[in-house]
Amino acid sequence: MTRLYDSRKRILVTGGAGFLGSHLVDRLLGEGHEVLCVDNLFTGTKRNIDHLHNHPRFEFLRHDVCFPLYVEVDEIYNLACPASPIHYQHDPVQTTKTSVHGAINMLGLAKRLKCKVLQASTSEVYGDPAVHPQTEDYWGNVNPIGLRSCYDEGKRCAETLFFDYHRQHGLKIKVLRIFNTFGPRMHPNDGRVVSNFIVQALLNRSISIYGDGTQTRSFCYVDDLVDGMLRLMNSDDSVIGPINIGNPGEFTIRELGEKTIEKTGSNSKLTFHPLPSDDPKQRQPDITKARELLRWEPKVALDDGLAPTIAYFRQLIESGAIGEE
Ligand code: NAD
Ligand code: UDP
Ligand code: UDP
Repeated sequence: MTRLYDSRKRILVTGGAGFLGSHLVDRLLGEGHEVLCVDNLFTGTKRNIDHLHNHPRFEFLRHDVCFPLYVEVDEIYNLACPASPIHYQHDPVQTTKTSVHGAINMLGLAKRLKCKVLQASTSEVYGDPAVHPQTEDYWGNVNPIGLRSCYDEGKRCAETLFFDYHRQHGLKIKVLRIFNTFGPRMHPNDGRVVSNFIVQALLNRSISIYGDGTQTRSFCYVDDLVDGMLRLMNSDDSVIGPINIGNPGEFTIRELGEKTIEKTGSNSKLTFHPLPSDDPKQRQPDITKARELLRWEPKVALDDGLAPTIAYFRQLIESGAIGEE
């Protein structure tokens, strides 16, 4: 892996005990930095950072980003936010607060410290997109009052805040729009499609397809995503985004179900269930900007990323961390 930083820094990662955050923390420690991981453990887990317990350059602080945070760091990655529909709809008011108050606090911190701050935004800002594939200049098709709105509009408001702090206070910002990402350490019960299908297949349960399975998603492996995130943070100050990071390889949900059965050697069968409201019908990133400005493109195909992800969930089931009830 190419080293992307030229000097050692003290770096704050909010949401660092989550799926993406914990991989980012590993990568930053691997590059020789000090990392302060801030997380309220709402959807994250200590299991994701257990291996760092005695690491001399790692520190964990249990804290909710809705409240002010006074620490001294050189750089901030703001990832704190529940990310799967089940989790972000569990307490939708808290989801919006986390996105909006969390952004204000991290921007206030970055303003005081005069440091760079990166926002983990999302392809959900495009809603159920009328433009395909999605380019960054597309404004989106978002329901402001639906079940997904707490997440979509919260993230859109966070982007607004980032750009206003940039324009009004000259802050150095980086806004990354993340498309569906998968890999080891995904939460086994967060209802996301890749983790659901793998766990169902490994337990020989039926594979739950919502709708007729013709809706599409494009799946990015976590290592590629983290590499894109580091490249954006280390890009020229003029590159502020928003910038899409995702894998343009697009699959129907039915194809993903069939692939998962094949890769796990499972006896599971597909079953069909009602489609949740406002479920986007298609999604694929246009990554021209990432290619040109960050010299980034994904390296890991869905098939290749599924293997370590399946191995992770197999191990989790064998260790008893996922019940077989
Ligand atoms: P995750 O749920 O595994 O991680 C989110 C982390 O944030 C968890 O550790 C959680 O405990 C923490 N958190 C939540 N609310 C908090 C609060 N108020 N204060 C402090 N910590 C809080 O999800 P993830 O997939 O790792 O997502 C990380 C970020 O990336 C999120 O901001 C998400 O919106 C964004 N994102 C992820 C994807 C994806 O496919 N995984 C896609 C688009 C955007
Ligand atoms: N803040 C923080 N840490 C800091 C500085 C600020 O958490 O080191 C929070 C604080 O809650 C503040 C918010 O960030 O209200 C926004 O800061 P800003 O300076 O933009 O505005 P203020 O509200 O202080 O006028
Ligand atoms: N999905 C599904 N079965 C599941 C979980 C999800 O068919 O068990 C579908 C869901 O309706 C959506 C797609 O898979 O169309 C991706 O869902 P996910 O929650 O992973 O991500 P998002 O909808 O936020 O992109």
